[in-house]
Amino acid sequence: MNELQELTLSRNNYSKMEELKTRIRKIVRSLKRAYPDAKCSLNHSNAFELLVATILSAQCTDARVNIVTQDLFRKYRKPEDYLKVSARELQRDIRTTGFFRNKTTSIQGASKMLHEQHGDMVPQTMHELLELPGVARKTANVVLGNAFGISAGVVVDTHVTRLSHRLGFSHQKTAEKIEQDLISLVPKKDWVIFPHLMIAHGRAICRARNPLCAECVIEKPCPSSFLKTGVMPGS
Ligand code: SF4
Repeated sequence: MNELQELTLSRNNYSKMEELKTRIRKIVRSLKRAYPDAKCSLNHSNAFELLVATILSAQCTDARVNIVTQDLFRKYRKPEDYLKVSARELQRDIRTTGFFRNKTTSIQGASKMLHEQHGDMVPQTMHELLELPGVARKTANVVLGNAFGISAGVVVDTHVTRLSHRLGFSHQKTAEKIEQDLISLVPKKDWVIFPHLMIAHGRAICRARNPLCAECVIEKPCPSSFLKTGVMPGS
């Protein structure tokens, strides 16, 4: 490829990127109108509770986590409380969220580090959160964004992954790479609300199977719409 061809290609990529950013801004605007109450659906009253709830939410529904944390947060109020009980007892308390042995190890490991190194407080940086046992980028982003209002990244879960693919925001497979695409496309002021909008729309309309394209408020800018392609997404 000669220099002129490379230049044309990079200009084309640049204008495609700008087009995509404009499309995303419009989609975010429409979804904000459609889901004005979109927010974190894990019940919590402080950053530590949100951290525990997010660890519990792996491979489990938010509704199930909320049932379990109703009693859990009455019994365990601070990191030290999780260290006073045996692993077996905590496993019993969180059993119905699934993967309870791993989750117990994560919660007690994170509690130990918070108690010994952070004065029982949840740190407010990505770097420190990622040092906690059982905490990866998704959990850290949930806590930073929803407990502290800090936009450090974009939460990517199954709904965000599915909708990002359908809407053409990312063709990547891993959550880490999809997040990097979203970070470069979504305005930073919307990084926290964006996944809540995707999750609300994914649950109500753009479901994994048989999405309701005819009722979708972002059907027009969606390249995967059944009405355009004649192929049902997810089928
Ligand atoms: S048009 Fe269909 S595939 Fe596209 S976002 Fe809406 S429901 Fe999902």
